[in-house]
Amino acid sequence: MAKSDLKNFTLPGLEAFLSGQGKERFRATQIFKWLYQKDARSFAEMTNLSKDLRVELEESACISNLEPTTVEIGKDGTRKYLFVLEDGAGVESVIIPDEGRNTLCISSQAGCAMGCEFCLTGSYNLTRNLTTAEIVNQLCAIRREVEIRNIVFMGMGEPLHNLDNVIRALQIMLDGNGLQFSNRRVTVSTCGLVPEMARLGREVIVNLAISLNATTDELRDRIMPVNRRYPIGALLQACREFPLPSRRKLTFEYVLLGGLNDSPADAKRFLKLIHGIPSKVNLIPFNEHEGCDFIAPTREAIDAFHAYLLAHNVTVITRDSRGGDISAACGQLKGRVAAGEPVNVNQCS
Ligand code: SAH
Ligand code: SF4
Repeated sequence: MAKSDLKNFTLPGLEAFLSGQGKERFRATQIFKWLYQKDARSFAEMTNLSKDLRVELEESACISNLEPTTVEIGKDGTRKYLFVLEDGAGVESVIIPDEGRNTLCISSQAGCAMGCEFCLTGSYNLTRNLTTAEIVNQLCAIRREVEIRNIVFMGMGEPLHNLDNVIRALQIMLDGNGLQFSNRRVTVSTCGLVPEMARLGREVIVNLAISLNATTDELRDRIMPVNRRYPIGALLQACREFPLPSRRKLTFEYVLLGGLNDSPADAKRFLKLIHGIPSKVNLIPFNEHEGCDFIAPTREAIDAFHAYLLAHNVTVITRDSRGGDISAACGQLKGRVAAGEPVNVNQCS
């Protein structure tokens, strides 16, 4: 029988697994702490468990781990990690430093099925969902090298299209016996899968970012196929209904595409659309990449869009492009593994 990877379990899941094996449930908390607070990679390290229990666990369970295959460091300090998974699929994670406070940008899928026209990840289609363990292990691996303050699900993939695994990974990240992140420091970004937004809100408390990227259905239909299923009206209704803890805000992301959605009329429509929704706005100037016809907005267009929102009391930041020199900026992740790249994994089977 295949061994169960303990990194796929939330704490309640681990309790259920142990009791299914006739073990004491409270051992789950001890094991969880070993995995996430002490970064144990073998049962032998778990010295507060009896020798017998460790031997029995060895037979039914395993502890997966990821090591980055390559790390690239950009001029601005951005670090891009490539992980090659057991089956050869590749995913990337990015560390974005900001005055000593690092944000980890994590991937939830190899590739993406959503097919947004401006996104390189989207042009590679979906290879597969990442498991809970593969999502969590990106964090575990990078945390060995740098301190991580914030986590954003803005790497490869649409997190709400792999919702079961993403929710479990979030629960492990937020668990006081697990990775111990505050829910204020964890953000999930979505292109707008409406039913899944509601389910996420029901099951876990995290920050939500919505990639709006257009102010008319006509344009959004064209650049984000998901809009044909969940048009702007339905998406904004889901935003209004999203259960926000008091004083929290949603984030609207808006990729500025030169000459396409960056006009003063767009800024005006944008303001109208988000009116009344507690929110802040991230403007992301389009990052150009090969084989994509969109162009970056001009400095003037960026500044004018930003200034218009600011003048209307919107909390807005323009995300300066980070990591462009190592293709680590938004929408530039492809997770492609070069031929002959060493495969450096310790998954378990
Ligand atoms: N799938 C999720 C999260 C990953 S994409 C989502 O779409 O929200 C993270 C962000 O990068 C999204 O806001 C997306 O609109 C943006 N993005 C994609 N391609 C980009 C590009 N080439 N330049 C700038 N931003 C881009
Ligand atoms: Fe997928 Fe997000 Fe890229 Fe769209 S922008 S293709 S949803 S990763």
